[in-house]
Parts: sequence; C-alpha cells; structure tokens
Amino acid sequence: MSMLLRRLLMGLVAAAISLSAAATSPASKTVDTAAVANSYSMADFTHVRKYDVHVHANNPDTAFLEQARADGFELLSINVDYPDFPSLERQHAIALTLAAKDPQHFHWATTFSMKGFGTPGWTERVNASLARDVAKGALAVKIWKNVGLVEKNADGKLIMLDDPGLAPVAEQVRALGVALIDHQGEPRNCWLPLDQMTTDNDREYFSKHPEYYMYLHPDQPSYEELMRERDRFVAAHPKLRFVGAHLASLEYDVDRIAAFLDRFPNATVDMAARMSQVQYQSVRDREKVRNFFIRYQDRVMYGTDLTFAADADPAEFRREAHRVWSSDWRYLATGESQRVDMIDADVPGLALPRAVVDKIYYANAVRVFAAPRPGLAD
Ligand SMILES: [Zn+2]
Repeated sequence: MSMLLRRLLMGLVAAAISLSAAATSPASKTVDTAAVANSYSMADFTHVRKYDVHVHANNPDTAFLEQARADGFELLSINVDYPDFPSLERQHAIALTLAAKDPQHFHWATTFSMKGFGTPGWTERVNASLARDVAKGALAVKIWKNVGLVEKNADGKLIMLDDPGLAPVAEQVRALGVALIDHQGEPRNCWLPLDQMTTDNDREYFSKHPEYYMYLHPDQPSYEELMRERDRFVAAHPKLRFVGAHLASLEYDVDRIAAFLDRFPNATVDMAARMSQVQYQSVRDREKVRNFFIRYQDRVMYGTDLTFAADADPAEFRREAHRVWSSDWRYLATGESQRVDMIDADVPGLALPRAVVDKIYYANAVRVFAAPRPGLAD
C-alpha cells in the first residue's frame, strides 16, 4: 500500500470515528466540552479568591481562619440566637477576637435577641445595639428562624417576620447601610414525612430536632404561609439589602428561587447547607440548574453553614472544612463527577464559566457585605 493511500485510509477511519461519536453522543456533549474548557479545575481551587458567606465560628481557636487562608477563603461568621450555640455575648466576643486577628479574612454578622419583644424600650435597645455592632465592624444583621417558628408575643401567638414590631429594626439595618440575613422557615422537606424527604441531611437533622420538624406539628404555620410572610416583609422594605439564607428556603426548586429573585431585585440568596438539594435537582436536569446559576450569577452567594463548635477538635474541623469546600468546588466549578452520599448519587460537576464562579464565590459577597458608607445607605 502506498503511503498516500494509507494516509487517506487512516483519515477516512478517523473521520468515521468522529462522525459516529457525534451521532451517538447527546447534543449537550458539545456544550460540555466547551464549558469544561472555559471552567476552572481542581488545581485552581486554592488560588482563586473565595468567600464563604455563611459560617459560625463558635470557637476562638484560629484553626478555622488558618484553613480559610490555606484554601483561599474569606469568612462571614454569623451570630445567631440559637439555643445549641454559645450565648450571644460569647459569640460576639469570639467574632471580635477573630476579626482583630485577621480583618482581611474574618468578617462577622451580628444579631439580636427577641427577648422582651413588644415591651417598651425593646426596639430602642435593639437598634442601639445594632448601631454599636456595626460601628465595631459587623457587616450584616441576622434574623433567625425563631421568628416565625418559636418566639411568641404577649397573646401567645407566634411572632411572624412581617410583624409591625420588626419593621423599625429592618429600617435601622437599612439606615446603618448593612445587609439583613434572614433564615425564614425550613427546607420544604421539613413538612414531609421522612421517607419523602429528598436528602439524608434533612432526614438526619429533623429526626434529631423534632421540635423543628413541622410535619409533626400540623398546628404550626405551613411552608407556604412562612414563604408569604417573608415575601411581604421583603416587599415592605425594598431598599433593604436582603439576603435569603439557605437559598431563601426555596432550595427544592431553582425555578422558585428564580421567581423570588425576579420579584425582589434588591435580594440575594446564600447556598448554605443546601448544596445537596441543588445537586438533587442537577442529577435530574443538569442544564437547568447550570442555566440557573448563569442567569442569576449576580444574585447567588457561596456559603456552607460550617460550624466550628466550642468543643470541636481544631485539626479535625480543619479537615472537615477542607473536605466540604473542595467537594463544593468540584461540583460548582469543575466538570468532575463525585459520589454524594446524602442523595445516594453520582453528581457531575456543573463546570460553571470562570466569570460566574468568580461572582458566586467572591464578587457578590464583596458587594453585598461591603463595609457601610455613612450617608450612602439609600
Ligand atoms: Zn447557619
């Protein structure tokens, strides 16, 4: 066989192989190849600037900070009036200690107690404490799910987020020029029987916390009721920089998160502790979830809910933080697959474009949690 003929034949074989590959692989394959070429890899994880906007540093040890620095993260540690956490005073003191040690990497959000709500002087006291905390460096104020699910007024009724008594506090947060982080209600799984929940983390949490497991408390507000209260609150404060923690508790459906963000242009959401619900959806329709992040690239912020407990072993916690951060990076930033036990599935990475990752992981947080500029609060 002449050299020319052999080359020609080889060329024909190669053409046939590539044709058959094109014919058998789904159209999305071409998109994927392009997407992966345009995305980060695991090797980029450490050096790309990142911000975890939802953590709880309840331990003054510097281990959390050190791991954040090693993995290229800044942290926003959120104080919460949660009975399982150290006292508010203690959380506050830890935040100030760590922020003083490394103000570049450690940021914090303050909160307030609902104790005495509705009694004379409560609003003034809370608003004065928020002003003091913002002056000390707090970049946001947190309202927790105890509003709507736990705290009751003098008549024994649950205090809802759109209670007129909370409006002056919301206005104070706006006037101080910081963000309001709101954790409203629970994931929708909380209203379902255990065997209908979509993720193991919800199954675990609600079997351990029957007091927050709404399926067991039909007398409590429904999921939709809580979402409506929250929407009324956001609508009533259009100038507030509103952050819906945990994907605004709409984690089960990216279309619902999209509708929320469309309706409230000043709102953003964090992803804390809801990655598996997003992965659950992307296993079923990867392009839909990927398109959601691309479309709302300015409105979603990366967060984990990593909690460094007072009694945790620092070395073990560092390993856990690194494991969670690397796994989330693999999913959002790269095209690599990984096993996710919480949903018992192999989850392919979204390989989001680099520019989108840069916003979700950093730029949006820097914008939303910017230090307040007096006089520019509006
Ligand atoms: Zn949290």
